[in-house]
Amino acid sequence: MMAIKEDIICDHEEMVQWRRELHAHPEIAFKEFRTSKFVADYLEKFGIEVHRGMAKTGVIGRLKVGNGNRAIALRADMDALPLEEKNNFDHRSEVSGMMHACGHDGHTTMLLGAAKYLAEKKSFDGTVYFIFQPAEEGEGGGKVMVDEGLFDKFPVENVFGLHNWPGMAVGKFGIAAGPMMAAFDVFDIIITGLGGHGAMPHQTIDPIVASCQLILALQTIASRNIDPLESIVLSVTKINAGDAYNIIPNSVQISGTVRSFKDSVRDKVEPSMLRISKGICEALGATVELDYKRCYPSTINHPEETELAALAAESIVGKENIDRHPKPSMGSEDFAYMLRERPGCYVWLGNGDAADGCMLHNPAYDFNDDILSIGASYWATLVEQILPIEA
Ligand SMILES: [Zn+2]
Ligand SMILES: [Zn+2]
Repeated sequence: MMAIKEDIICDHEEMVQWRRELHAHPEIAFKEFRTSKFVADYLEKFGIEVHRGMAKTGVIGRLKVGNGNRAIALRADMDALPLEEKNNFDHRSEVSGMMHACGHDGHTTMLLGAAKYLAEKKSFDGTVYFIFQPAEEGEGGGKVMVDEGLFDKFPVENVFGLHNWPGMAVGKFGIAAGPMMAAFDVFDIIITGLGGHGAMPHQTIDPIVASCQLILALQTIASRNIDPLESIVLSVTKINAGDAYNIIPNSVQISGTVRSFKDSVRDKVEPSMLRISKGICEALGATVELDYKRCYPSTINHPEETELAALAAESIVGKENIDRHPKPSMGSEDFAYMLRERPGCYVWLGNGDAADGCMLHNPAYDFNDDILSIGASYWATLVEQILPIEA
């Protein structure tokens, strides 16, 4: 049976209201004005010191209890996605083309629920920072916060994050040391040949034929250049060229994404890609340009903090409900930037495993309100266990 903190259970209905309110009013990267105000106003109401405006719309709550000098940070993300919601329930998005399809409405609510509990109970000794960050989805709000001096202004020993996980049952956690989420890079390749008549290829340099060879050859980075025991994905996801049946175009653009876990593996991709692109295009008489951008680094949990996270989760749902060896995901997470500044742990919380359940970023997804108490209890317990009141 699950041991959910009683006081948080009492607030369950309030958390459901917050979550649905946030769900109905989604805001995307760095435009979380309403959400940010919602969070800051509640934190103030709970008597927590509030810092607004970091990374534009970020909010940090600081709660100090007792005389302890130790401090930790808990982080939630607040942004929604540019996606048209397909659900028809009452709390569906009221903003056309925007939707909380990744459950950040739930993450924000759970951290707010824990903040309320801890401010009321004062059941720890030290300082907790509640970090509500903007722009997790692709724009790196977490990095902006770090660059703006998050951990210089608010020094902490460690930092913790959480994401709901569809496909994992309610009441279960996935917690592991080491890689949880992949590094995320993107690339654009432009192959330039010489356009001409489709019936007279000998008078052209055909960039389409070059692009086909190149796309296949790029797969040899994963299969021939990287240690078979390491993980990597290279996907070409866009090809753009040509307008007519009888014209060989002048150029082709290929774009895609690369995912990896280890920095040493990640470092090998761009040089390999450049070598292969140049070699193939040169052989066919075309020229090539590669624009390779490193986006989020991989999310790597630190061993000690992982044990602390597992202990807190065990207190809520029991050891048997914790998967200590979840398969890492090739998705990415900008909490990675915070984990590179301070040791910490990022966990997955089951959002339900119903057969008709939706994955993250699906237009029919919804955060599961049944897990609000579990997540909020996890946060509160983590704080109480890491910053205990000495007897
Ligand atoms: Zn997402
Ligand atoms: Zn997310």
